[in-house]
Amino acid sequence: MNIHALLKEGTFDIMKTLGRFYLNNKRGLAFLASTLPQIKAGISRRDAHEQDGLHVPPFLIASIASQCNLFCSGCYARCGGACGGQSSRPDLTADEWRSVFDEASGLGVSFILLAGGEPLLRRDVIEAAASFTNMIFPVFTNGLLLDDEYLELFDKHRNMVPVLSIEGGKAETDARRGEGVHDRVSGVMERLMQRKMLFGVSVTVTAENIEIVMAEKFTDDLSQKGCGLIVFTEYVPTEADTEHLALSADGIGSMNTTVDSLRARLPDTIILSFPGDEAALGGCLASGRGFFHISPSGGAEPCPFSPHAKHNVRETPMAQILKSRYFAELRTLAAAEEDHSGGCVLFRKEKEVLAILGV
Ligand code: SF4
Ligand code: SF4
Repeated sequence: MNIHALLKEGTFDIMKTLGRFYLNNKRGLAFLASTLPQIKAGISRRDAHEQDGLHVPPFLIASIASQCNLFCSGCYARCGGACGGQSSRPDLTADEWRSVFDEASGLGVSFILLAGGEPLLRRDVIEAAASFTNMIFPVFTNGLLLDDEYLELFDKHRNMVPVLSIEGGKAETDARRGEGVHDRVSGVMERLMQRKMLFGVSVTVTAENIEIVMAEKFTDDLSQKGCGLIVFTEYVPTEADTEHLALSADGIGSMNTTVDSLRARLPDTIILSFPGDEAALGGCLASGRGFFHISPSGGAEPCPFSPHAKHNVRETPMAQILKSRYFAELRTLAAAEEDHSGGCVLFRKEKEVLAILGV
């Protein structure tokens, strides 16, 4: 199967799991009844583009905020300059983001992951995204700004799915994110569960927390708290002196095996795992193969872990970016890496990426 067919199958799998999650939930079912046909129409648009020689990925990652209310250790967004850095261009306005979402929707993109910095600092962009009912927007947030007004907005617009970052239990989360963060995020989970809203958690897996977050108890507890989406991401040491946190080959193997058994055990929970899922999809998904990343100021970057843009969505149409020589050369560079069992290919090959960029 080629990458287009594999990603199409993956999109259908996600929709089926969503159907199981919202099985006895009136508001959830109403959301699915309106959104599923629109997602299918998007898939048909991607099929048509594929026939015409344009590969449109089902996912985009949009870092909509360049600031954050937390200072977590080892934050890739701060290290890569997407958060708290000095860009030579201003952040995109809400209207500019609306144009980006409109363009993506026209091409048939199904999921736009909103990240940052802290995306909830950009309420104007969140409101713009909510109106695109033909796409689903997982919002990767630290959860601390998810107040009643946001809950109400997300409850009304079920295409907006909060994904809360945790690092394990209280000790692990507070150690990386700050004292008291775990309890506050747990409180947010309770309120999401009371409203029977789909929400997810995002966990960075390190050599220090792997045993805790891969234990059945961890995922069972999340499931009981109403969580319907778990995203595991292997730690990529972007910050100096954090190499000891990267997983060993054994750790990566055990993470992949555990994720397989979790999917069988929790059939109504969407479980994504990186780079495990990338390996199953033939390697690095960046540079438009499975997604690309848009920085707060509009830079079209291959991936958040390789924050180097040649084009900007302000002046270059998305279809042109997807067909660009820059992204094509980066895809070739990543594909040359045969072993995609761990770490990040483009992060490891930063020198070659910069040479392609012409820096
Ligand atoms: S919440 Fe996210 S963006 Fe903010 S500092 Fe922590 S890891 Fe970085
Ligand atoms: S650039 Fe790295 S993290 Fe991003 S998709 Fe490729 S291998 Fe994965």
